[in-house]
Amino acid sequence: MRLPILKDVNSLCEQCVALCCRYFAFEIDKPTTKRDFEDLRWYIYHQDTIIFVEKGRWYMQINRPCKELLPDNRCGVYEKRPAICREYTTKNCDWHGDDYDYEHLFTEADQIEQYAKQYLAEQRKRRRTRAKSASKNRAKTRRAKTPQRKSKARAALPVRLLKSA
Ligand code: SF4
Ligand code: SF4
Repeated sequence: MRLPILKDVNSLCEQCVALCCRYFAFEIDKPTTKRDFEDLRWYIYHQDTIIFVEKGRWYMQINRPCKELLPDNRCGVYEKRPAICREYTTKNCDWHGDDYDYEHLFTEADQIEQYAKQYLAEQRKRRRTRAKSASKNRAKTRRAKTPQRKSKARAALPVRLLKSA
């Protein structure tokens, strides 16, 4: 949802409470094992931490404001603000952008636990299916090889007979 833009403001940021300076997020490895999910659960037990998935990539977000944010919502180190702050624009920001397109949003450890249970069960099922089809393929290969050995044996027979004669 795009928020309304007020008239008579010099900059789009003027009407905002510096939403983009009140958290930081970074990409984390996609969890694939029980231990990975345990770690995520530990992260999320910490205050103001959430985990989300966007376009298949996993992120951890800490909802704590930047220490340089001034009480009037301006940046206290504007001239030397980090590159990530310089690159961020109002084009698609937290205030003026569209809604977040999360595939998954985890705010509680229980949600992670539930997701992990389902994910790991699916993985186990996939592994079982793969193992079954691999064993079927091995059996097929064995069957395909067997007549070849027999025909070689038959071909060798007259030679042995000749030798013993
Ligand atoms: S860039 Fe967007 S979210 Fe950040 S302060 Fe400006 S209006 Fe607010
Ligand atoms: S350095 Fe400035 S612009 Fe960057 S997050 Fe902190 S207050 Fe915001």
